Amino acid sequence: MPFIWQAVFILLPVTLLAVVSLISLRREAQRAEDDAHDRAMQDVQSLAWAVRASANGQLQRFLALQNEWTQGVRSAGQPTITGDFPDKRLRDSIEKWEQDFPDLNFANLAVPQGEILVDGRQIQPPEMQAAPAPPEWYTGLSQKQKMLWRQLRQAIDANESGALVQKASEAFVNSNPGPAAQQAAIWMQEPATDVAGSSGAFPTETGLSFEEIACYKLLSAKNAKLTGALLQSVWWQVIDHPSFTSSRLLELAEGLTNHDDSALGQNVFWTLQFWNAQAKERSWLFSLRDFQASTNWTRQTSWAGWLNKSDPGALALFEPCTFRDQADHPEIRPVTGSGYQIWFVPREVVKAIFQHALEENKVFIPDYEMASVTVAGQPITSRPDPNAAGKSSFADSPNWHLLGTASQMAGAVAMPDTIAFSVSLYLTNRDQMLSAERRRFRLFGMLILGAAFSALVGLLASWRAFYRQQELNEMKINFVSSVSHELRAPIASVRLMAENLERGKIPDTLRQNEYFRFIVQECRRLSSLIENVLDFSRIEQGRKQYEFELANLVAVVQTTVKLMEPYAAEKGVRLEIIDAGVSNIELEVDSRAIQQALVNLIDNAIKHSPKGENVMVGIERQNGNTTLCLFVADHGPGIPAEEHEKIFERFYRRGSELRRETQGVGIGLSVVQHIVAAHDGRVRIDSEPGKGSRFTIELPGTKQHE
Ligand code: ADP
Repeated sequence: MPFIWQAVFILLPVTLLAVVSLISLRREAQRAEDDAHDRAMQDVQSLAWAVRASANGQLQRFLALQNEWTQGVRSAGQPTITGDFPDKRLRDSIEKWEQDFPDLNFANLAVPQGEILVDGRQIQPPEMQAAPAPPEWYTGLSQKQKMLWRQLRQAIDANESGALVQKASEAFVNSNPGPAAQQAAIWMQEPATDVAGSSGAFPTETGLSFEEIACYKLLSAKNAKLTGALLQSVWWQVIDHPSFTSSRLLELAEGLTNHDDSALGQNVFWTLQFWNAQAKERSWLFSLRDFQASTNWTRQTSWAGWLNKSDPGALALFEPCTFRDQADHPEIRPVTGSGYQIWFVPREVVKAIFQHALEENKVFIPDYEMASVTVAGQPITSRPDPNAAGKSSFADSPNWHLLGTASQMAGAVAMPDTIAFSVSLYLTNRDQMLSAERRRFRLFGMLILGAAFSALVGLLASWRAFYRQQELNEMKINFVSSVSHELRAPIASVRLMAENLERGKIPDTLRQNEYFRFIVQECRRLSSLIENVLDFSRIEQGRKQYEFELANLVAVVQTTVKLMEPYAAEKGVRLEIIDAGVSNIELEVDSRAIQQALVNLIDNAIKHSPKGENVMVGIERQNGNTTLCLFVADHGPGIPAEEHEKIFERFYRRGSELRRETQGVGIGLSVVQHIVAAHDGRVRIDSEPGKGSRFTIELPGTKQHE
C-alpha cells in the first residue's frame, strides 16, 4: 500500500516534533519556577541592602531630630532660659518628617535620651524618689532635741512673734544638734519665697524637701501668683528631683497660668511635655529589668533590643559608655560607673521607617511576592497569613511560601550596625508568578497541537484525494471501453448494411429504404454520442460556450420528442407529450444545449423503460410563473435515494460493469447538470426503486416572454 508510506512520512516528523516540544515545554515550566525562586533569593539580598541604606538614613534623621527636640523641650520649660522654641528651622524639619510619615505625630513620639548603669540604676531620667522617710539629721536627734525641734516648728507654724521664734530657735541650737540639723533650723525660719529655688533638696524632718514644701505653699496660697523664680524651682523639683509630689506641683502651676499664652504659660506647657515624655521613658526603662538577666546586657558593644514587648513599646539602642560624675552638677550625673546611653525609637517609628524602606525599594518586590521585616527578633511589618489561603501551613500551599530571607544590620552614624534586622520575601501568588510562563506554554502547546491537527487533516484530505483519483482512473478506463463499445456496434452494423447496399445484395426498394433509415438513425445516435463526449470534454476543460437567444421552449420540446420518436419506437416505448395548455413560452436560452439536455434525459428514460411503457415529456410553470419546468418521466426501475446525487457525477454508472444491461458511458447526466447550471437552473430528481423516475429541469422564468 503506497499510501501507508505517504502517511508515515507526513505524520512521523510532526508527531515526533510535537512530543519533543511538549516534553521540553514541560521542562521549561519547571525551570521557570526554579528560576523564579533563584531570582527571589537574589532579590531578597538586594532588598536587604537597599532597606538597610534607606533605614540607616531615616534612623539617623529621626534620632537627630529627636535629640534636638527633646533638648529643646527641656530648655523651653525653664523660665531662666530664654529663646524661641521650636525655631523655624526645627519646625520645618519636623513638618517635612511628618509629611514623609503621615500617620505619625513627632512631638508625641520623641523621647529624651536615657542613661542607665549596668547595675540597673537610672541616671537619666532620674529615678522617682521612694516614699519620704525621716532623714538622718532628724533620726539622730536625742529625745530632748526632738522636743525642742517640735517647739520651734510649732512657733513658726503658729506664726508667733519673731522674738518667740528666735527664742525657740536658740533653745534648739543650744541643745547642740548636728550641723545638718542646725542648717534645717535655719531653712525652717526662712520665708518660703527664699527657700523655693535655693535650698537644694535639703530634707525636712518628714523627708520631703524644704523646697518642695515651699513651692507647694506658694502655689496653693490664697493669692498665689506664679513667678519665674517659683516656676524655675518647680521645674527643678519635677525634672531633676522627681517625687510623688511632682505631678501635683505641675498641676498647681498649670492652674495658675490658666493655660494662657504668656511666656510662663509656655514654660509650664513644655515642662509638662517633658514630664510626660520622661514618664513614658520611665515605664520603658522599668522593663529593662528583663534585659539584665540576658547575656546582651553585659556585652560591651552597641546593640538594640525591644522595650516592653507588647505595644506600643520602643526599640532601645544601647551604646556602652562609662559615666563620670560631674562634680559641679551632681544632680545631673551623681555617679561614676559603666552603663549605657540609650536612644529610644518608638515601635511606630521603627515600623514606619522599615515600611517606608520597603516602599522605596518596591522594584525588588514583584506583585506576586510580599516582603516582611523582622527587627531585633520581632516581626514589625505584616506577614502573609498562610491560613488566609485556607491552608494549615505554607508547605501545604504551593501558592504561599517563604522564598528567602536575608539578614542585615542597620543603625545611625553614632551607632552603625546596631539593629539586627532581616527581610523575608514570601510568595503570595504562585499562579501570577508563572502566568507569563503559562501563557507561553499554552500558546506553544496550542501551536503544536494545531500543527499536528492540520497535518492530520492534510493527511485525510490527501487520502481522500488519493482514493478519489484511483476511482476516477478506474472510471476513465471504463469510460474509454464504454465509448469504444458504444461506437463499435453501430459502426459495424452501418458498415455491413452499406456494404450490402453497395454490392447490390438488396434489390428490394422497400428493404433498401429501411436500410437507409436505419443508417441515418444510427448515424444520428452516433453523432449525439460524439456530441455528448465533445461537450463533456469542453466542459471539463472549461471551454464550453453558450449562446443565449429567445427561443420557444414548447417548440424545442416538440422537436426533441420528434427527434427521439424513431429510437423510442425501435425500443417499443411510446413517447408522449403532456399538454399543460401552453403553446408558446419564450425564454432566453441556448436552445441547442437545452435540446441536448432533453435528448440525454429522454434517451435515459427510453433506455430504462420496459417495452410497451410510456415516457412522458412536458413543460409546465410552477411557483406562480417564476419557475419553468421541463420534465421527463418514465416507468422504469427507479433509482434509490442514496444514489440521487451520485448519478450526476461524471463517469458514474449504476450497477457493476459486468451486469450492466443498458448502454451508456456515464456522462449524460453530468452534461445535463452543467447545461442547466449555466442557465441558472437546477435538475431535480424524483425517483424510488419500482416507481419509475422523473427528472425535472427547473429554469428561472424571469426572463420569459410570452
Ligand atoms: P449513462 O450513459 O450510463 O446513461 P448517465 O449519466 O446518463 O449515464 O446516467 C448515469 C446513471 O444513472 C445510469 O447509468 C443509470 O444507472 C442511471 N439512470 C439515469 N437515468 C435513469 C432512469 N431514467 N431510470 C433509471 N436509471 C437511470
